[in-house]
Amino acid sequence: DRQEWALLQAVLAAELQAAKALTSQGKAASYIPELAKSPPDALGISIMRADGAVLAEGDVHLSFTMQSISKVFTLMLALMDNGERAVFEKVGKEPTGDDFNSMLKLELVEPGIPFNPLINAGAIVISSLIAGRTPAEKAERILDFFRSLAGNEELDVNESVYRSEAATAHRNRSLAYFLKDNNVLTDDVEEVLDVYFQHCAVQVTTRDLARMALVLAYDGTDPITGLEHIPRRFVQIAKTFMITCGMYNASGEFAIEVGLPAKSGVAGGIMTLVPGRYGIGVIGPALNAKGNSVAGVHLLERLAQRHDWSMF
Ligand code: GLU
Repeated sequence: DRQEWALLQAVLAAELQAAKALTSQGKAASYIPELAKSPPDALGISIMRADGAVLAEGDVHLSFTMQSISKVFTLMLALMDNGERAVFEKVGKEPTGDDFNSMLKLELVEPGIPFNPLINAGAIVISSLIAGRTPAEKAERILDFFRSLAGNEELDVNESVYRSEAATAHRNRSLAYFLKDNNVLTDDVEEVLDVYFQHCAVQVTTRDLARMALVLAYDGTDPITGLEHIPRRFVQIAKTFMITCGMYNASGEFAIEVGLPAKSGVAGGIMTLVPGRYGIGVIGPALNAKGNSVAGVHLLERLAQRHDWSMF
């Protein structure tokens, strides 16, 4: 492992530069207006190992919102709050093959439950399952959970991105009302959405993502502090969803080319991990046609193939 770390250190700058050339092939998301302001040619990566040492290259000081990456963690918090049975009465365990915000198929799984917790419909249901008396309390518990995993008390919601999404989320609203009509959502729709928009807008750096991923790489226990944050079973469930649905409709290809559990978000972040070894955070706001960071995916493919990281 020492040897691999030295090798990684030696090649990371060149691999990042090579991947950076691909940023011009993608575009930053703009359906959330505020995200269109992200620097399209940025690319950064942080790789953290169990003793807390970090390899950082490129735009690692850039802050960005977690977006869909947050769904991995709200799922685990909902599992801790409610148990496996109650959660999977309301969301399924299967990939969709549809877009992340799709309305298709919502009718198909009985009785109208979303296919999985990583698509928007499923993640909105998960937000409703977070314990707390008020939406503010739920959002606060989520933020506290993220902060403890990232070992960073300063993590916070980016208010402009949060407001930008809340003001334009007509599609997520319609998904949520449809779920309410099916009695999958029972709480007030606007209150559930508010919790969802807030956790999507939590602002991080690649280092924060790497640290959060490291906890998953070590099955829920932070190897740096020794604290057990999440039961192993729930981490196992989350990592399985990351493999099957974490990279939108490119999850199958990513599993073949990289072979690691990963989750991407529309702000251009990717969180991935090498089990029992590293937590990895990547940012590259320019997205490919499937909605993943075009340069970020390329960089991870190169590193995983070069270092034989695939789990398969
Ligand atoms: N907040 C975003 C939305 O609901 C998250 C989408 C994503 O990152 O895939 O549209």
